[in-house]
Amino acid sequence: MTNQDTIFSKIIRREIPANIVYEDELALAFTDVNPQAPVHILVIPKKPIAKLTEAETEDAALLGHLLLTAKRVATEAGLTNGYRVVINTDADAGQTVFHLHLHILGGRPMAWPPG
Ligand code: ADP
Repeated sequence: MTNQDTIFSKIIRREIPANIVYEDELALAFTDVNPQAPVHILVIPKKPIAKLTEAETEDAALLGHLLLTAKRVATEAGLTNGYRVVINTDADAGQTVFHLHLHILGGRPMAWPPG
């Protein structure tokens, strides 16, 4: 599924509001509207990659940048005791917004395995 105009594209274009905590030329981070932990932040590329399956070799540097952005945002959120980074990919993982996003979850102990 390739959808270039998801709700996250609208957030990037400032067409709908979000609590943006970080932005640079490649990435945006904002708090999740339905938090599953005391800290729940999403990191997205500005490039509209629908899901991890659709990332290409040419996206390698961007994918690395998203992980480093996740580290930066988690540090700035004060998650000194640890955190989880999740990428839900397609139906079995429960992906609902088809614009690649990293969930940063923290502020409480996490169970394993996830449901
Ligand atoms: P799921 O919805 O099952 O968690 P995803 O991994 O696709 O699947 O996550 C999409 C995330 O986007 C959800 O955590 C949801 O709460 C969040 N979300 C949806 N709309 C917004 C919005 N307008 N602002 C911030 N977060 C949003």
